[in-house]
Amino acid sequence: MFNAILVHYQELALKGRNRPWFVDRLLRNLREATRGLGVTEVRALMGRIEIVLADGADLETIRRRASRLFGIANFALAERVPADVAAIEEAAIRHTEGLAPTTFRVAAARADKRFPIPSPELERLVGSRIQDVRGWPVDLDAPATVVHVEVVPGAAFCYVARDRGPGGLPTGVSGRVVSLLSGGIDSPVAAWRMMRRGCRALFVHYHSHPLASRASQDKVRAIVRLLTVSQLHSALLLVPFADIQRRVVVGVPPELRVVIYRRFMLRIADRLARRAGARALVTGEVVGQVASQTLDNLATIDNASTLPVLRPLVGMDKEEITAEARRIGTYEISILPEEDCCQVFAPRHPATRSHHEPLAQIEGALDAEALVEAAVMAAEREEYRGV
Ligand code: ATP
Ligand code: MG
Repeated sequence: MFNAILVHYQELALKGRNRPWFVDRLLRNLREATRGLGVTEVRALMGRIEIVLADGADLETIRRRASRLFGIANFALAERVPADVAAIEEAAIRHTEGLAPTTFRVAAARADKRFPIPSPELERLVGSRIQDVRGWPVDLDAPATVVHVEVVPGAAFCYVARDRGPGGLPTGVSGRVVSLLSGGIDSPVAAWRMMRRGCRALFVHYHSHPLASRASQDKVRAIVRLLTVSQLHSALLLVPFADIQRRVVVGVPPELRVVIYRRFMLRIADRLARRAGARALVTGEVVGQVASQTLDNLATIDNASTLPVLRPLVGMDKEEITAEARRIGTYEISILPEEDCCQVFAPRHPATRSHHEPLAQIEGALDAEALVEAAVMAAEREEYRGV
């Protein structure tokens, strides 16, 4: 019965001239995500995309992947039939077999205006046929089940159930960002939010090995594996941070250390981003969440980067962030115990105010430039595939 998956994106959210590019990217991402799963073709059809299924296609895997692919608003396992009323009615009867809703309605969309029957009339025709055969009452306002019919040039699609996609824009349309991933709750959500806007994330994690265990690296690897399902392939750069921490502990007053650590992180990330052609850095910082995240300190931290620092969680409550982390699936990984690289030497009372000049002077005395260069050189790259 099912020979297609019909994919919908949020067309209205697209600006006119970007649309073909957006659709093209979504087609490519869908092809990559469904390779080897029994898909004959992935093609654009007037405002929607059809995934053409061969016999024996791996429907479960296709659905699981589509549900995580950015740019997809929703998708439905559907049947393609000829664009004529009798064929559509027969399909509607097949697709309502075995269901027992309290009420129903038919929703028709006529993307091909050359099809002679307007949508409201098609809805009435198919609806009354279903009513005759199944005996279900119609409810136009709040139906328990909706039978969908979509007419495109040369064909019609029929389906009942729809799955949600994550929405947003297809990976790649917005360029690259470098996403700073700790093992915490916030930074994976921040990364995901920018990924959902069409950015491909290059992940960077600073670890304190051998001062601390490798636990944070394993957490970040697990988070990257999960996020990669949505962007299909990723790279993670693991950057040693212990040398910098040793120098900071010796040369920086305790209350300034956290801000100095962050500035080192951004400086290194900035350098890595430029090499990779990324246009911005992403962090999970939130105004006021901890002492290092006062407006003053965020501004001082910004000074360490030449690229814009994006903070998609900046105005969110912890509760909202946590709920989103659960939805994305990173929460369970983030709450595993670890020593955060900055907890190792973190002072109890970081300064809430800071200024660029005095910090820059301290950093100069530490020979920050050489430390940054050494960390960049020592970064280890790991590749991940989401399919
Ligand atoms: P998170 O929950 O993401 O760890 P947080 O609330 O603990 O955030 P901080 O520890 O102040 O906040 O870190 C602020 C941001 O700096 C993080 O969201 C992350 O983007 C970045 N960051 C912190 N530690 C690391 C690290 N070890 N490696 C990479 N990025 C880091
Ligand atoms: Mg943290």
